[in-house]
Amino acid sequence: MFDASGASATGQPHDYRQTSFWLATSTDDLTPRAPLRGTLTVDVAILGGGFSGLWTAYYLLRDNPSIEVAILEKEICGFGASGRNGGWCSTRFPVTTNALIRRFGASRARETILAVHEAVEEVGRVVALEEIDAHYRKTGVLSVARGAAQLPAIHAEYRTYEQLGLGAQNRLLDAAEAYERIRATNLSGAMLTSGGATLQPANLVRGLARAVERCGGVIFEGSEVTRIEPGEQPSLSTASGTLRARKAIVAAGEAYLAHLPQFHRTVLPLTSMIVLTEPLTHAQWQEIGWQGGEGLSSQAKTTNYLTRTLDGRILYGSRGAPYLFGSRISDPALRNDAIYEAMRTKVRGWFPILQDVRFTHAWGGYLGMPRDWMPTVSFDRSSKMGRLQGYTGRGVSTTNLAGRLLAGLITQSSSGLEGLPLHRPRMPLWEVEPMRWAAVRYVQNAFARIDEAEEAGERRPWDAPLANYLASA
Ligand SMILES: Cc1cc2nc3c(=O)[nH]c(=O)nc-3n(C[C@H](O)[C@H](O)[C@H](O)COP(=O)(O)OP(=O)(O)OC[C@H]3O[C@@H](n4cnc5c(N)ncnc54)[C@H](O)[C@@H]3O)c2cc1C
Repeated sequence: MFDASGASATGQPHDYRQTSFWLATSTDDLTPRAPLRGTLTVDVAILGGGFSGLWTAYYLLRDNPSIEVAILEKEICGFGASGRNGGWCSTRFPVTTNALIRRFGASRARETILAVHEAVEEVGRVVALEEIDAHYRKTGVLSVARGAAQLPAIHAEYRTYEQLGLGAQNRLLDAAEAYERIRATNLSGAMLTSGGATLQPANLVRGLARAVERCGGVIFEGSEVTRIEPGEQPSLSTASGTLRARKAIVAAGEAYLAHLPQFHRTVLPLTSMIVLTEPLTHAQWQEIGWQGGEGLSSQAKTTNYLTRTLDGRILYGSRGAPYLFGSRISDPALRNDAIYEAMRTKVRGWFPILQDVRFTHAWGGYLGMPRDWMPTVSFDRSSKMGRLQGYTGRGVSTTNLAGRLLAGLITQSSSGLEGLPLHRPRMPLWEVEPMRWAAVRYVQNAFARIDEAEEAGERRPWDAPLANYLASA
């Protein structure tokens, strides 16, 4: 059984291969790079060696070969959500399509969705160009309705895509057609979306770090930023050094930024957890179908999604442990056996033929949830402060979009993405405690009750509209 946090409980140096199956099987050497010591001045200084920081660095360096870029990562590149996620490089944006239309109008909603589709393609192009062994496969996405109660949501989503002239990328399947593709229990219909991909995220994030270095970027690991100093001469400070920047400093620490005063209320650090089976046998796959290996998800409020890995395992992910007071990030909170066991039971519920399957890995991570579900990319020219943050559980493709946009804003060169709604100067803040804790815990609990009722074919709890209202942007 894996230590789901990747943290050392013994005070020994971290064994980063314990963090997730993806890091465990990564083809890269995970020995930490040297930390920052002393003072260094570069053009752009970046906090965070996940997808956000690395995509920003990659595009800055690719398009401006003489620029000097350095990254400070507190652990190793890929330690955060980027090395732990479900491996969906999805065409779905964090804000639902309906909410995009309501908030920004049909035209900007369409533009945003097309930009995410393009980001999935762009990730594939870079993977090929930089020869990253990321297992990138264009599988598409299959959103299934499990039980009649989930069907209206799929039909409504399909109609929304049609309204935006994006019907051709989506196809509705009835229960029999859905079952033909994947022999899971309780299917009442599905929507198949073309364009999405699945990948090995740790290989992508580690490969991207190597690509950044090949382009001339410098990466310091084991270098936790304890102070962010925006201004005319901005800097990022660690316990053993200071990185000064001529053009920009960038905050790309996603959920972990909640621990820095400037960002404490911008996103909520929420856990997301994953269990993984052993590789299934040929006979088991014959029984299950799912030959397309599409990213698979239901409409459950607590989110559940499944990925078929390249070596024939099933990965099952869902939201995880309860939110902790004060937006605390706690590695022990990810070692919650009761939650992992409940998730294994769910997998057996989807596929009863897997009653005796062995689960080999279980891990979790922290994602960043903005108050209005909208990611934010900004660059303030006067303070030279850039940020990209708040992807919820949909950051694998969106970080590429955000990194390209931010690189263009810093160098004042158009990426063509400036008109997207995620380009905005600030994000709405979360409520102060204890309101934040009370509301978030209530919604987490209510969502679990809604899912249980729907799965059992019972009426939704009386307070479902209230929970939905509180969770909506
Ligand atoms: C379990 C899980 C499953 C997910 N599944 C999917 C999925 O299937 N598809 C999808 O699209 N999205 C998914 N997501 C979300 C997605 O992984 C993230 O949105 C994305 O990886 C965010 O990248 P990032 O670089 O912004 O953040 P991170 O990957 O979290 O990187 C932030 C980095 O900053 C470093 N850092 C933080 N603070 C400091 C500091 N003070 N000093 C120095 N370094 C610091 C951290 O160590 C970390 O490496 C999932 C997330 C989780 C947790």
